[in-house]
Amino acid sequence: MRYPEPILNLVAHLQKLPGIGRKTAEKFAFHLLDWEKVQLDNLAYAILNSKDKLHRCDTCNGLHDKSVCPFCDADARASQTLCIVSSPKHIYAIESTHLFEGVYHVLSRLISPIENRYVEEEELKKIKDRIVDRKIEEVIIALDATLEGDATALFLRQQLKELPVSISRLAHGLPIGGSLEYVDEETLHLALRGRVRL
Ligand SMILES: [Zn+2]
Repeated sequence: MRYPEPILNLVAHLQKLPGIGRKTAEKFAFHLLDWEKVQLDNLAYAILNSKDKLHRCDTCNGLHDKSVCPFCDADARASQTLCIVSSPKHIYAIESTHLFEGVYHVLSRLISPIENRYVEEEELKKIKDRIVDRKIEEVIIALDATLEGDATALFLRQQLKELPVSISRLAHGLPIGGSLEYVDEETLHLALRGRVRL
């Protein structure tokens, strides 16, 4: 017998989350249905409130709730280094190493020829302009060690080589095919320190 429609609907929404398959979505759905209504209201509020309060920085594309982006704050961020990541979440991962004092750029997307995804011309120009305007000396490409991450890193190296910057990429310890999200703080610390010149 099929689940009632409201459960099917809930499962379909939960399945949209990364790494959540049908079985796990069903488990979560039934778990949520055990919650009190007030708890569900609080969960719904937390999700909507995050979406309302957080915004993307016009400069770095990071996600935060301050009027001045803490990652682009000129006084706090004096270093002439630019770190390119693929998710706002990865900024926080790099920050947790306490090794980096430069600025960030969050790419809107990684390159995937199969899915016809490329870095937009406009975004590339924004990165180049920022390197020049801020007199950036080093660009650290901190992308996932995946095919898409590799393709994007190569593309960026090609595009940025005309500029007077050294380009490096995270190295040691990053598992092949792995995302920065699942790398522990210590490994990321090593990867950042052991970055290799591209
Ligand atoms: Zn910013």
